[in-house]
Amino acid sequence: MPDDVATLGTQRSKLLEEFLSWGDLRPGSITAVIRRCGKPSCHCAKHHDPGHDPQFRLTRRVAGKTVTESFANPTALRKAQQEVAEFHRFQKLSQDLVTLNEKICRLRPVTQERGGWTAAAAVHQEVAREVNQLLGRVFAPFSQRDFGSTLLPPQRPL
Ligand SMILES: [Zn+2]
Repeated sequence: MPDDVATLGTQRSKLLEEFLSWGDLRPGSITAVIRRCGKPSCHCAKHHDPGHDPQFRLTRRVAGKTVTESFANPTALRKAQQEVAEFHRFQKLSQDLVTLNEKICRLRPVTQERGGWTAAAAVHQEVAREVNQLLGRVFAPFSQRDFGSTLLPPQRPL
């Protein structure tokens, strides 16, 4: 069955529902750093030794710089792992949403409008209105939370 605007619109609604059901999310990636205590007599000083318990860190980019956080305990690590995983899901779904919207934009008929530049202006307005609606629906549930400027919707004019 070929894609049509109505079908794609239904898919878009389903995607948006997923956005609304999410838990906490945060950008960054978690890495394990092998610890070596530095004592020459310790087993960790040997070349192929796995070292002591690895130290887990969350790194993320803030204003062009890498910021590192460590975790007080394994529970804090697991919490952050879930939040970061949720953020990666968010990114993936955002991509899917944009791809879907591009298809809808291409398929949405313009022949219903009058010709010439008036029609072009109408389509531009429709796209701008849809994007604003999407951003409003996607970001409104999160607006009361503080999770950094990197997740705020772009404020530039459309
Ligand atoms: Zn050691």
